Amino acid sequence: MSDVAGKTVALIRGNAEYQEASLEPTPEVLNLWKKVHNDMRTEFGEAIFRSWLKPLKLQAFYHGTMEVSVPTRFMRDWIQNHYAERILAMCSESSEEIKRLQIVVVQNAIIDDEPFNSAEVSKANQNKKIDISEISSPLDERLTFETFVVGKPNALAHAAARRVVESASVPFNPLFLYGGVGLGKTHLMHAIAHAIEEQNPDKTVMYLSAEKFMYQFVKAIRSDSTMAFKEQFRSVDVLMIDDIQFIAGKESTQEEFFHTFNALVDQNKQIIISADKAPSDLSGIDERLRSRLAWGLVADIHPTTYELRLGILQAKRQQLGADVPDSVLEFLALKVTSNIRELEGALNRIVAHADVSKQEVTLETTQEVLQDLLRAHDRRITIDEIQRKVAEHYNLRMADMHSARRARNVARPRQVAMYLAKMLTARSLPEIGRKFGGRDHTTVMHAVRKVEELIEADAQIAQDVDVVRRALTG
Ligand code: ADP
Ligand code: MG
Repeated sequence: MSDVAGKTVALIRGNAEYQEASLEPTPEVLNLWKKVHNDMRTEFGEAIFRSWLKPLKLQAFYHGTMEVSVPTRFMRDWIQNHYAERILAMCSESSEEIKRLQIVVVQNAIIDDEPFNSAEVSKANQNKKIDISEISSPLDERLTFETFVVGKPNALAHAAARRVVESASVPFNPLFLYGGVGLGKTHLMHAIAHAIEEQNPDKTVMYLSAEKFMYQFVKAIRSDSTMAFKEQFRSVDVLMIDDIQFIAGKESTQEEFFHTFNALVDQNKQIIISADKAPSDLSGIDERLRSRLAWGLVADIHPTTYELRLGILQAKRQQLGADVPDSVLEFLALKVTSNIRELEGALNRIVAHADVSKQEVTLETTQEVLQDLLRAHDRRITIDEIQRKVAEHYNLRMADMHSARRARNVARPRQVAMYLAKMLTARSLPEIGRKFGGRDHTTVMHAVRKVEELIEADAQIAQDVDVVRRALTG
């Protein structure tokens, strides 16, 4: 045991193959165990098998040791004293490589239908909760499905999250959610966890960031408790790992996660992962793991649209019970486009300011309170830059942005550029019009509305706008 951990430490220092340190039983050993386990029925008789031996589970195989688990200490001692010797002999008969049998307590090893000792079991379940809660991060109670506003950009991810909660079985494994910063990945994960816990309090849901996963893993290695670490992770019903991109380049953590992942998938336990990119785009993550991550349902959360931003602001206004005019919400939805966290932050600031200053919230106070934020947004981007980026994206010439040509392949990109100019700068409509070959402000307004509409209706345009916006703001 300790030399196994030693090897893993060595790996972390970068000079040993992790495979060697792996405790995962190979398919051969698994098959052998299945056969031996089955033979125990005839060897010991059905009654003993059902009372004691059926819950035995193969956990690991290392250096000639078969490690099997039972759910309680009491069972372990009983099996140790009465049947262990014979079980080892049965194993050794099947393979000379097996030299030792180690029986460990995995407190929530699945107990099928046998009511052998319910007091022990419920105690085990209590312990299990305590163990898990040491690792699992606390859930934010505000992040629920009720407070999650659904719109086009997050509809798929939301529907997938609901499926996970509502399905009797595991609908897809893993559920992989990805999208940019502050777009609601963590919110959705917490919402799933709350809903599952509400529906089914017996289920163990573990939620943590990939960073914490790594921290726990390294801590387990240092304290020689990798087995306990493995047990804790393999005993959950639902495992959620947030921001998996964090373990890019962390090879041993990835390896460990890969095994945990496979073990849980094998047991048909739900896994939910979030990341800032699609599995195939996660650099620094092992190819094997990347392909596994894409096995289930991959759902992306798109950058917000004006409609969604407005919807979120309206919901938030209601939650805060604050008196904020629609015009202010519309202004914010138009101006604060980077992400939802920033949008919420802006509304909170305005409401807090109104509270403290005992002033009403108006467009003017809003502009004043958010001066720095709005300026930071505006300062960076000029209409020239926007035109250049849009032209580049659509393979047009800069002159096409100013020209009078009305062919669709030129006019549409030009409208996109006007839209972005309105969204990303503080320029007024007439100012924008002037920059686009002296067009009228109504032309600009029309372009802005048109592109808003298209973003909702046409995924290609939505993506184009998004790509250019990211290029400009990123
Ligand atoms: P991510 O994990 O993708 O970086 P978060 O889930 O932390 O983003 O979301 C950032 C903030 O925006 C949180 O306060 C969250 O509650 C809020 N938020 C995100 N999406 C929505 C939504 N669809 N409806 C309401 N609030 C949202
Ligand atoms: Mg997050």
